[in-house]
Amino acid sequence: MGVLACRQKNSRGTFKPHLAVSFRSEDGKVCTFSVDSTRVPKKQPQPDAYLITHAHSDHHGKSAMLSELSVCADKTAVALEIRHDRKFKGRTVDMCGSIEVNGTTVRTYPTGHTAGAVAFYWENDVGTRILVTGDVKDPSALPKCDLLITEANYGDHDDPSCHFEDDLEGFRSALDSSPQVAFGAYAFGKAQRAVELLREIGHDGPIAMEEKSLILSNRLLDEPGELVGLGEFDEDVVCIVPPWDLGKLPRSMAKYVMTGRQDYYYPSLQISDHLDANGLVDMVEKVDPEMTLVYHPGGDRPGKFASYLNSIGRGAVCLEDVDNILGNENL
Ligand SMILES: [Zn+2]
Repeated sequence: MGVLACRQKNSRGTFKPHLAVSFRSEDGKVCTFSVDSTRVPKKQPQPDAYLITHAHSDHHGKSAMLSELSVCADKTAVALEIRHDRKFKGRTVDMCGSIEVNGTTVRTYPTGHTAGAVAFYWENDVGTRILVTGDVKDPSALPKCDLLITEANYGDHDDPSCHFEDDLEGFRSALDSSPQVAFGAYAFGKAQRAVELLREIGHDGPIAMEEKSLILSNRLLDEPGELVGLGEFDEDVVCIVPPWDLGKLPRSMAKYVMTGRQDYYYPSLQISDHLDANGLVDMVEKVDPEMTLVYHPGGDRPGKFASYLNSIGRGAVCLEDVDNILGNENL
């Protein structure tokens, strides 16, 4: 396929996050794209780009955003700047756009995982179509590819917790359960999904939000409606705060946590930012790659998902199977 997937080591000899992908561009130059990883020290050879799929911290934009070689969607750059209070130094691209990186045209496709979350797509010198998805909620915009580099957050088919559907009815009932309702949702990702869901089901009143959630939602959502701070409401209101702040709100409020977990004190609403196990398989079938490399998250789910794909006749490996090592200053 003309693609070399590499893991990188840092100076302590441990692996850097995720991977780098080397290939020849259409005009024959050797190119390397680092994917959702931290920066390589300046004295070492740099990749041609640090691709950042989205602004969740386990995709390491906090480090990569400080390189002029970083590339992400414009909304991811905004989210990184707000979350980490530092300037994004790289280049940005539209959610459905393209950007030139040393002679390679890299296209972007939304994955519906968070505001700004995109998959990156490019072709190499022998026409191999490479698609790096990051985390995925909605694969409908993704193009067909030959090499799929993807996630398996819920990729363990044998684990019942990897099979779920969004509980939109439960969310609607929760909203109707009391004049004062609070939803526990992480400030980046879940909180914006909560605002969008509330607007979709017809709640057009103000939504009171914790400060960081409010700033992120106002900057990242195209039509958030009226969002206010927590100090700015008096009576009937819908609130969105991080789960650990629910206890600070008045006792009279009905409270719910938007999570797949069951270990919160408050009732949980299954609203996920991810595909479940069957959804991941459907995504692979849809983009129809010759080979899948599962690169995220840590733990054993990438291996389990790759094995499952093999069992249904689809070639797949996980990051642990990648034994090419790049960028080790000791080599
Ligand atoms: Zn994520």
